[in-house]
Formats: sequence, C-alpha cells, structure tokens
Amino acid sequence: MDLGFSAEERAFRDEVRAFIAAHLPPRRQDEFARTTSVFPEPDVNRGWHKALYDKGWAAPGWPREYGGPGWTPTQRYLFEAECARAGTPTITPMGIRMVGPVIIGFGTPEQKAFYLPRMLSGDDYWCQGYSEPGSGSDLASLKTRAVRDGDHYVINGTKIWTTHAHHANRMFALVRTDDAGRKQDGITFVLIDMDTPGITVRPIRTIGGEHEFNQVFFDDVRIPVANRVGEEGRGWTYGKYLLEFERGGGLAAARMRRELAKAEAAAAGAALSAPSCRLDDPLVQARIIEIENDIDALEMTELRVISSLQTGQNPGAISSMLKLRASEIKQAITRLGVELIGAQALVWESRRPLYDDDIAASTREIASPAVMPITSSYLNSRAHTIFGGSSEIQRDIMAKMMLGL
Ligand SMILES: Cc1cc2nc3c(=O)[nH]c(=O)nc-3n(C[C@H](O)[C@H](O)[C@H](O)COP(=O)(O)OP(=O)(O)OC[C@H]3O[C@@H](n4cnc5c(N)ncnc54)[C@H](O)[C@@H]3O)c2cc1C
Repeated sequence: MDLGFSAEERAFRDEVRAFIAAHLPPRRQDEFARTTSVFPEPDVNRGWHKALYDKGWAAPGWPREYGGPGWTPTQRYLFEAECARAGTPTITPMGIRMVGPVIIGFGTPEQKAFYLPRMLSGDDYWCQGYSEPGSGSDLASLKTRAVRDGDHYVINGTKIWTTHAHHANRMFALVRTDDAGRKQDGITFVLIDMDTPGITVRPIRTIGGEHEFNQVFFDDVRIPVANRVGEEGRGWTYGKYLLEFERGGGLAAARMRRELAKAEAAAAGAALSAPSCRLDDPLVQARIIEIENDIDALEMTELRVISSLQTGQNPGAISSMLKLRASEIKQAITRLGVELIGAQALVWESRRPLYDDDIAASTREIASPAVMPITSSYLNSRAHTIFGGSSEIQRDIMAKMMLGL
C-alpha cells in the first residue's frame, strides 16, 4: 500500500508552490505575518484574492458550477498546506466561506447570478449581522426588526461586534419579522447593501488595540424584499447552516503549525537577557510537543470534514468540535509565545497596523519585527473562544447533537 501522494498530486503541489512564488509579493507576506487582528486588512489580502480569482482558485469549497475549482479533498489539502507554509494572507471568510454556501443552497437564481460572481472576484466585501447587545449566545432573542412595506422591508435596530463592517459593502443579517410563536420562528435572513441610507457604523477597539469590529445602527433602512434569502421566518435554519461553515468549513491546522514555528523563531531571535521560559527547557519542549499533537489530531478531523465538503455536503454538528479545538489550540500557541519572549511581552505599541512603514521603523529599536506582534496577537486570541459562538455554546451543541444529551 502506498500512502504517499501520487505523481499527479505531487505535480499539483508544485503548481501551487510555483503560483504562490509568482503571485505573492514578499511585502504582503510580511504584512500578513505582522497582522494582529483576526483577519487581515483588505489592502493586505486584496491582491492575493484577485490572483486566486484569475486562476479559478478563489473558492476551493464551492461546487464547480458556481466557480469552484473542482478539486479532490487531497488537492484541497495540498493547496491549504502550501498556502500555510508560504504564509499567504487568509481570504476574509464572511463572503466565500460563510454566506456563499447559504446563497448556493437557498438563494434564488437571481441572487446566485448577482452575488456569487462578485463574491468570487472580491468586488463585494461582506460582514455578518447576527449578534446584538443582549443577543449573543442567545441569538434567537434578537430584536432588530424588519417590517414589510410593499416590496420592501424597513429595518430598525442594532448589530454589534460586526467584524470589518467598516470595510464591507454588504451585510448578511438575521432580523425579526414576527413576534408570535417560538422566537426562532420569527427570524428572517436578509442581504443588506451597506450604502443604504439609515446605516451608521461605529468603531469598537479590541483589547489588542485593533479596530476590527463595530456596532452598526439601522434607522428606517429600506431593503427590497428580493434581498430576503429563502422563506420569511425560516432565517434561523439558514443562519445555523451558515454557522456550520463559519465554525468548520476550513483547514486551520496547517496555519497553526506555522504560527507555532513563528513563536519559537521569535523567541530564539529575541536575544532575551533573562528569559523566564526557555526553548531548551524540557518542560517547554513538552508543551510544544503537546500543541503539535493537538494540531495533528485537529487536522485529522478537519480532513474528514473536508472530504465530505468536497462532495457537496455541509460540515454538520462536528463543526462545533472543530471550532472548539481550533480556538483552544490558537490560545495555547499565543500564550506560549508571550511566555517565551519574557519581559519583551511588556513592550506595547498602540499604533496599528504594526507593519505600517513608519511604525515598523520606529519600533525596530525596542523589539524585533517578529516579537512585536506577539502580545497583541495573544490578546486578540482571547476572542477566539468567544466569536462564532463561545466554547460553552459549542460544548452545549456537541452534547445535544453528537451525544444526544
Ligand atoms: C472578535 C469578535 C468578533 C466578532 N464578530 C462578529 C461578527 O462579525 N458578527 C456577529 O454577528 N457577531 C460577532 N461577534 C459576536 C459573537 O458571536 C458573540 O460575542 C458570542 O456569540 C457571545 O455572545 P455575547 O458576547 O453576547 O456573550 P454572552 O452570550 O453574554 O455570553 C457571556 C458568557 O456567558 C456564557 N454563556 C451564555 N449562555 C450560556 C449558556 N446557555 N450555557 C453556558 N454558558 C453560557 C458564554 O459562554 C460566555 O462565556 C464577535 C465577537 C468577537 C469577540
């Protein structure tokens, strides 16, 4: 039995490697390496998205008829592994990975024809309008209201923690269209043009110092009824379907391996006078090996899910397990990073982004470019066990859906 890659698969891997070398400028690689927020700024990943689009590789998980590349699970794995190895910027997932599958699964032919090509090309930038003040874990209690007025819905209310709403020209949102019955039954899934009059985006700064998310206000915002996805009152079903892709539609393990290596390299090059936590300490080595084992185990499950996604299925309840483990491993890596750089973790630069030329030049004296993002990334990673549904909620879903409790 030959468990290695076939000649065709090795040729595909070489093709991906050559494509990355030809299309990813080192500057963008460097900017992504020094990105401390959860997703890169559009300036960092726009060119890479365009290159992938031109090649037909922008939406690895989509069916071929909508513009997917028609890869086998092994090709998908090789692609993601090569991207991780090279440190290509991640493509912001709210469009292609999250609302894309919902429109493919439940959208009208007109919605598919209009939104999917613009998503693929990167012309549209999406944000997610789910959470509200008071409606996070208990999302079904949401209050943002959409009232039917002829061919339009009129929306009033507010969404919060809306990642990259300040960059987005489109939002997918859950809104309340009915108060009667179960709270889940009165929810509708809509697509909103962010240029519509009555929308205000107010920034919120994260604990790590980034402007990453926002509060969004809706005052008599009129959207066409044609922007509703699926049936009125069935938004909860579509919204949960989307969350499966948010939590479990990608391959995080390969990128985590790179992050762990980066943390070790930063510590090795940090020239620490009195490191509290040394790379050559057997206990530190044991922690690193434990994280490596966790990454390997995560990858096995991710590969199983990717195999079913490439044949057109949705991730299912196992997405909660993937989200839970990926967020915990991410936090273990960033915590180790902070401990490894010792007192240098106390150096705090409040300006963003850290790769800005002026900031990079003025901070080089106090910490290396590799050390500088570590503390902010650690702080940012606190959010990983909260966004996309907190760890407690993932455990709850696993207990109900997978264990039948
Ligand atoms: C960085 C970041 C980006 C985000 N981006 C977006 C976005 O783009 N769009 C969007 O819509 N939302 C976004 N969110 C919001 C996110 O989905 C919510 O923060 C999350 O669902 C938790 O809701 P909450 O903040 O209201 O906390 P709460 O629901 O108030 O929870 C507070 C604590 O109570 C626990 N808890 C609550 N209910 C239960 C229960 N039944 N059983 C056990 N424990 C429970 C939670 O686990 C948590 O520890 C983002 C959040 C963060 C941090």
